[in-house]
Amino acid sequence: MPTTPSVQGAASPRPVAGELTASWLSRLAAVYRLPARDLLRAITGPLPGRPLAAIPAPGREVYLGPKARQRLALFAGIRQEDLGRRLPAAAHAHPLGTDRGPLWTDWYVPHRPWHTACGPCSRRHTRHPRLARPTPVLVYVTGARHICQRHRRWLLATWDTPSFIDLTHFPEILNAHRRHMRLLRERPDANDALAYACAVVWSWQSAAWPEEHLWPRRTAALARLLGLDNPLEVAAHPLIPYPETIAVAEFLATPAWRHQVPHASPRARTRASTQAAGTVHAELAHRTGRPWLPQRLAEAARACGRRRGLPDPLQHWLDGCIRARAAPSTATNRALLWTLPSMAQAPEHYDDRTGLLHHGPRPSSTRAHALGLTGGWHVPTERSLRLTTPP
Ligand SMILES: [Zn+2]
Repeated sequence: MPTTPSVQGAASPRPVAGELTASWLSRLAAVYRLPARDLLRAITGPLPGRPLAAIPAPGREVYLGPKARQRLALFAGIRQEDLGRRLPAAAHAHPLGTDRGPLWTDWYVPHRPWHTACGPCSRRHTRHPRLARPTPVLVYVTGARHICQRHRRWLLATWDTPSFIDLTHFPEILNAHRRHMRLLRERPDANDALAYACAVVWSWQSAAWPEEHLWPRRTAALARLLGLDNPLEVAAHPLIPYPETIAVAEFLATPAWRHQVPHASPRARTRASTQAAGTVHAELAHRTGRPWLPQRLAEAARACGRRRGLPDPLQHWLDGCIRARAAPSTATNRALLWTLPSMAQAPEHYDDRTGLLHHGPRPSSTRAHALGLTGGWHVPTERSLRLTTPP
């Protein structure tokens, strides 16, 4: 068992910013040709607590007690603070609160989504003289890193090999991603707006309006690209409504629009409120390339005004704009603006979204799982939506 970070003259693999601790540990163990558990055992001594599986199950994260973390950093020749900076989960307490001492280690299911890093971009991290094949780097979903513009890839959540959707034939996705990055750079509340936009667009998707042709076309193209016979298997993937989600987020994050909509509530039932709502609907139709959208949005707003069915997220936001104008503080203003009824959110799980998009027997998502479509980016993880109970 080696006792220094040098492996036959080659350095230990360095952690990549945002990487899962389990991903880095697995890469480190691979160069010593050991299961991750055995490397830990060699560094920390006998592992206390329940028996640890030799290698993490797909998608598992590893918890390292402070002493185990310290010894691992020393072994790999990395400063502890660098480890904490690069591995988001490294310095966290055990998520289940089952910490049993400074050497306690454990596999657990991370609460945050992750995806593989772009293969060509992370090659220097994944290749090692002692490895027959590159080992993938798994990173937590953060910002807009789920797409590599250089290699035109939407990065997926597979455990053992880097996988991606080739975006060469989806220029609108690459364009939306550039706007996504700009939004994050330029708008302080971009993540709030993006999380809210996901809910707005989900309400449109689940309405399944007959005029909608872009999403079925994109869904069929993606299924063809991935070799899936049934387009419904990919219908719930966030790539499908991504350009529209970014377009709506840009609208929501524009302060000028918030000031233009103070009268856009159907509950006001005045000519001014109808006109203001019509202006908002027309703007969204223009931004998303759907000339038929205003009529559908007006119908949804009227139904919302009569309190029929599920809450309409867009109308809820317009009402929030009105309330936020009278808010006594910035914090209250923000809470009013970005508070969303919990029933209006898109279901977190891929299978649940698939079930709601298809009014028939739920299609199998076995292949979608195997391809890594069911994880990865779906909503901003830094979102700060305050969930409320439905009215
Ligand atoms: Zn790349």
